[in-house]
Parts: sequence; structure tokens; C-alpha cells
Amino acid sequence: MSPPSLMDTHPNLSDAAPVALSYELFPPRSPAAAETLWTTIRELETTSPDYVSVTYGASGSNRDTAVELINRLVVETTLRPLAHLTCVGNTPQELAAIIGQLLDAGVRGILALRGDLPKDSGAPIAGSLRYAQDLIELIRRVEQRRSAMLCAGKIAVGVAAYPTRHPESPSEAHDVEVLLAKQRSGADFAITQVFFHTAQYADLLTRARRAGVTIPIIPGVMPLTSVRRVTRLGELAGVEPAPELMARLAAADSDSERRRIGVSATIDLANAALDAGAPGLHIYTFNEHQSALEVLDKLALPRHSRNGLLADAK
Ligand code: FAD
Repeated sequence: MSPPSLMDTHPNLSDAAPVALSYELFPPRSPAAAETLWTTIRELETTSPDYVSVTYGASGSNRDTAVELINRLVVETTLRPLAHLTCVGNTPQELAAIIGQLLDAGVRGILALRGDLPKDSGAPIAGSLRYAQDLIELIRRVEQRRSAMLCAGKIAVGVAAYPTRHPESPSEAHDVEVLLAKQRSGADFAITQVFFHTAQYADLLTRARRAGVTIPIIPGVMPLTSVRRVTRLGELAGVEPAPELMARLAAADSDSERRRIGVSATIDLANAALDAGAPGLHIYTFNEHQSALEVLDKLALPRHSRNGLLADAK
């Protein structure tokens, strides 16, 4: 008989981990937008998220505002930023410099993305990295060069995952192969693209685990509270919006009714993902806090509070 394992003698080690909570923000495009964003940031901060992600324009066009927002989050708030970074629009040398700049600012989480290809040419700029996988490898190289500086915390590298086929991909099976390749290159976790049907996250999880993907896959959900936003999102992300949600939003006769419909649909998606074993919840906020907080209110996620005890997220 073999001796009892550590997990047998310390059963608490196998208890379920608290559910992670995070939000996506994008850098403001005007002083008025910055004011709204900072109201949102302060409201979201009260829920003690584990991190907030900051998007990056695929062309690198908002690089300065993204870095400025990240710096302010580090200096002026209790929030930990996860910086998005894209291959498209920057040379590897520029990307290495940006990674260094982010590390110097105290950032320890990067979401490595390819970015959407320019609409006109359909191809990345000459000399840019081809796939997110290449960016992961670049991040790991920069990290290795600075390993002495990172003794108190290495870089957590995240990647995108797709519950429905990526528009350029031949199949969902290919998407999972790509996710596995990103894991092999050093990805620590994945956040999903938006999805509209409750079974889609669980199906992705099954495909990914069968293929050998072991990293956490965090569902990304977005409270969809207007027809215009759902349509635009569908176009941008190449995700087919759910016709029944569109019809209900179109038939609603007030903003508060549309918000109620969007929040309720998001809660259904989040609950289905949590039931399937989601390790966290990432809320795409569109820089607005109200719907995100309403979703949280109704979910009561088991979370860690700052004093280390499990608590329901407000
Ligand atoms: P990749 O993983 O590189 O995949 C791109 C395409 O290439 C896919 O079709 C894939 O199947 C294929 N592919 C990848 N590797 C290989 C390979 N080795 N061989 C053959 N084919 C391959 N965009 C932004 O511009 N800024 C953002 O801040 C941003 N944030 C995002 C956050 C999340 C959570 C998600 C899900 C997406 C985000 N996007 C963002 C959009 C993303 O950039 C696009 O979806 C983009 O088209 C693909 O990015 P990727 O990182 O998945 O690329």
C-alpha cells in the first residue's frame, strides 16, 4: 500500500477555489470619455476584482492612452491591470520595448493577441509577428532577460479562446489546436470571445480538455443592452448574435427594459458557464459599470475577500 498523498492528508487543498472576477476596459478616446471611465473604475473597484484588462488597438494606435491608463490604474487604484497587446501594427522590437515599459510600470499580466488584420489589405504589416503564439514567445524571452527583476512575480500570459469558430479559422477543432499551441508556447490562461448561447462555453471546455488544454479558460460575458451594440459586436467579433435576444431587445420600449433583458441574458450565460466549471468570470463592460454591477448582484459569486475569507461578490 502506498503512503497517503498530500491531498489525502490535507483535504482542504482539493476544495474548490474561489471564482475569479475581472472586467475589460478600453482606453478613453476623449476627456469626456475619460471622466465616465473613471467613474466606472471607482464603482468597479468596490467589488475587489482580481484584475481589470485594458484593451490595445490592433494597429497600436491607442498605445499611449493604453499605457497611460495602465499607469494610472497601478498608481491611483487598488486594481491590478492585465494589459492586452497585439502583434498587428508593431514590429517585434517595438513590442519588446512596450513589454519592458509595462514591466517597469509594475504590470505582471499580459493578454497576448494577434489583433484583427487591417480591413483594407487583410494582411499584417511587414515584419510584424504572425500569430499570438509568436507574441507569447517574445514575452517569455523578455521575461527571461529580466528574471532577476521578476523574483516577486513572473508574468501571467493570457490568450484568446473561441466558443464559436474564429472567422478566419477552418473549424472549431482547428481553434482548439491553436489554443493548445498557445498553451505549449507558455500561455497561463485563456479568456473567451463573447458568446450568446448557454451551451457554447461548456462545449468549448469539453473540446479543449479532450485535446489536452489544461489552462484555465475564463468565460467572457457582455451585458448586451442595445440592438446597435449587439449588431456591432457581431460584426467586429464575427460572432452571430442570438436572434431571440435581438428580437426581445428590439421589442423593448425603454432603456431600463433593454437593460433588464441584457442583464438577465448575461446572468443565464454566466450561470451556465459556472455550472460547467468556469474558474472565473470576465465581464466586458464597454466602460459602463451599471449593467456589470447588476449582473454581479444577481450571481453571488463565491469570492475571496481582502481578509482571505470566502465571501459572496456584491
Ligand atoms: P491567433 O491565436 O494568432 O489566431 C489568429 C488566426 O490565425 C486564427 O484564425 C487561428 O486559427 C489562426 N492561427 C493561429 N495560429 C496558427 C498556426 N500556428 N497555424 C495556422 N493558423 C493559425 N483585438 C484587438 O485588436 N485588441 C484587443 O485588445 C483585443 N482583445 C481581445 C480580448 C479577448 C478576450 C478576445 C477573445 C479577443 C480580443 N481581440 C482584441 C480580438 C483578437 O485580436 C481577434 O480575435 C484576432 O482576430 C485573433 O486574435 P488571436 O490572439 O486569437 O490570434
